[in-house]
Amino acid sequence: MNSRELNDRAAWLRGPSAECSVVPERLEQPWRLVLLGPPGVGKGTQARLLTQRLGACHLSTGDVFREAKTRNERQQTLAMSAALNSMRRGTLVPEAIMWQVIRERASCLRCQGGFVLDGFPRTLAQAKVLKLLLENERLSLDAVVNYELPLAEIVSRLSGRRTCQSCKAIFHLTAQPPRTEGMCDLCCDALYQREDDRPEAITVRLNAYQSSTAPLIQFCRNLGLLTPVVASGSPEEIFRRTATALEKRRKFDSGSSVTSRKSARVWSPEMLACCGNESGNGNNI
Ligand code: AMP
Repeated sequence: MNSRELNDRAAWLRGPSAECSVVPERLEQPWRLVLLGPPGVGKGTQARLLTQRLGACHLSTGDVFREAKTRNERQQTLAMSAALNSMRRGTLVPEAIMWQVIRERASCLRCQGGFVLDGFPRTLAQAKVLKLLLENERLSLDAVVNYELPLAEIVSRLSGRRTCQSCKAIFHLTAQPPRTEGMCDLCCDALYQREDDRPEAITVRLNAYQSSTAPLIQFCRNLGLLTPVVASGSPEEIFRRTATALEKRRKFDSGSSVTSRKSARVWSPEMLACCGNESGNGNNI
């Protein structure tokens, strides 16, 4: 296990009063990415693969709320209780609460190891807030990776998904079953089905996704940041496609390959072998 895996993301998960157990390594050119895609498309898995290889921090807004859920109700602010109620219903957390959550965690956007933002922005309004925050910090995004998958496959993925209650590793009843039923392969703790992965919440979430993210995707496309990636196949296949698409972007942006940079050690020749997607010009979101 390397130092990256030991980072507990405390500042992100618990807010600015908490400190991360490990300060990420300073990278010459850290990666700053946003991942988009409907629920169940595998963003969480790709975020973990990307953060392991890039040394960046996995900033998941869903994880912020799941972490809050494990705390005693009396320790929760009114805003957090309202957010958790939305999450239980499968609806989006109100914008004002989301902005508060992100503003409080702005230091994570400045992290010297970079970041992979997963679950935010989900609406055009959130994208505009993020754009402003990044501009204030004089930071720019490398890409907005948009994972794409047909609807039927999404529903099947979500209803079979099981998550470890301790280490948050993700399994699937048929596509990636754990060695022992109901038990995490990595830490042996129990697996559970997220409330929002139950069939009644899935439909609500997918409808909310469709209506709120179409304008957001167009916004990112207009900024030249959108990087579509087909999300079918195994996590490794999807990761390879993502790596190739990102590699192409940095070549396009700077005229030189990431393989000549410090962060380049993350890509193996095999990862770079297949073809990628779209390129852009690296504006802030
Ligand atoms: P996720 O793990 O990203 O699917 O998020 C789980 C739940 O957290 C969502 O279904 C929403 O209720 C809430 N949530 C996470 N991120 C956001 C966001 N950017 N805007 C609104 N609600 C969010």
